[in-house]
Amino acid sequence: MPTFQIDDEDMAEALEALADLCTICEEQSVMHDAQGLPWCAEHTYRGDFINWGAAHNWPALELEPYGVAEGAWFWVNIAMIGEDDCVYMLLGAIEIETGEKIA
Ligand SMILES: [Zn+2]
Repeated sequence: MPTFQIDDEDMAEALEALADLCTICEEQSVMHDAQGLPWCAEHTYRGDFINWGAAHNWPALELEPYGVAEGAWFWVNIAMIGEDDCVYMLLGAIEIETGEKIA
């Protein structure tokens, strides 16, 4: 009777490769944000969004028609599941408000 064996090293490598795939589309990542989430070339703006939030202590933002509540949980959720429009608008609004170029 053959037994199925998983080599620990292979398993660790597989998990590491998985952890390196983009949070949104599972393409190979090109960056990890301040929270350690991987993002591909197309989705780095989401990592930039998280990095800006982390660098500014996850502030609450009121930017019509979107808003972010204070705290990492809200910022990370928007980065992970928010519509493109929403993340782009928030990034754009932050750039206008602060005069900083983010993404
Ligand atoms: Zn992606």
